Amino acid sequence: MPPTKSPNSKRKKVGQTLLSVPATKSSSTWHTHKSNNVSILQAPALAKLPWLLHGFSTKPGGISDLNNEKILNLSFTDWDTRENVLENRRRFQSALGASDLQLVALKQIHSDVIHLFPAAPSEPCKGLPAVAGDASITNLPGLLLAVQTADCVPILLVDPKKRAIAAIHAGWRGTLARIAIKAIGQMQMHFATNPADLLAAIGPSIGPCCYEVGTEVATQFHSQFPEAPAWFDEFRTGDEPNPIQWLNRMPPGHQPPPQNVRLNLKKANRAQLLSAGLRPENISVSDLCTACRPDLLFSYRKQGAHSGRLMSVIALRP
Ligand SMILES: [Zn+2]
Repeated sequence: MPPTKSPNSKRKKVGQTLLSVPATKSSSTWHTHKSNNVSILQAPALAKLPWLLHGFSTKPGGISDLNNEKILNLSFTDWDTRENVLENRRRFQSALGASDLQLVALKQIHSDVIHLFPAAPSEPCKGLPAVAGDASITNLPGLLLAVQTADCVPILLVDPKKRAIAAIHAGWRGTLARIAIKAIGQMQMHFATNPADLLAAIGPSIGPCCYEVGTEVATQFHSQFPEAPAWFDEFRTGDEPNPIQWLNRMPPGHQPPPQNVRLNLKKANRAQLLSAGLRPENISVSDLCTACRPDLLFSYRKQGAHSGRLMSVIALRP
């Protein structure tokens, strides 16, 4: 899903940020699994578990045609055919070694709605219509939980002790709604997960180098999270005054004109995982920015409605 656009998002160049290091260097700690022209990114800590399958898709290797380029679009979009998307999904699952697994994709709505699959223990999960929501959890082997993104943050979680998993879609609205924390709460409730056992992989998404949001978004984060100013930190390394501080100091009606800031969504979600009880060493974060890597990834911000969609998936092997 593309992130919802905030108003007042006129582009404005500010200083380079910490996360805008060359992607080749930062992504070297993640594995790239290649098969039949499809490249799948994997977090080493999750790839080590023999009973787990997971992966973050990339752009090449599909049959969808966009601007004379063949791409692996994994979501139903206005510009692509259903047949193309289904064939791309087949190729992606095949490259992952997950051809026989039941794909569980959601109709994503930028919410904090979390689904447990199967909904009842006896439910076969066959021919499941896409339900509306932004995270799914299961402890049933054979279900390939999926989230679709083109800038938003995909988060995969695994509990190695209870053998349970989650896939989470966190744009700015989902992040503001604490979807990652709530998904972990659901895992605690349904699977008796101890958050300290969880391994997390935060996949490629738009970086603070490129994710400009309106001041009103910063204000909402600031009102919800005491640590929020740190998620806009990189912006403050320039000469620009910090709009969050203006908003704190100035009485209503006396603020300077609104100014855009850059949000580090990965950092915000990592902070939420930590606050839920995950250990820092158990969280792997891809440094790849979707907007900086049009050769490898899809970005709704960069490519607009005519963008493909990435898919992030996780499953317990049957
Ligand atoms: Zn970027």
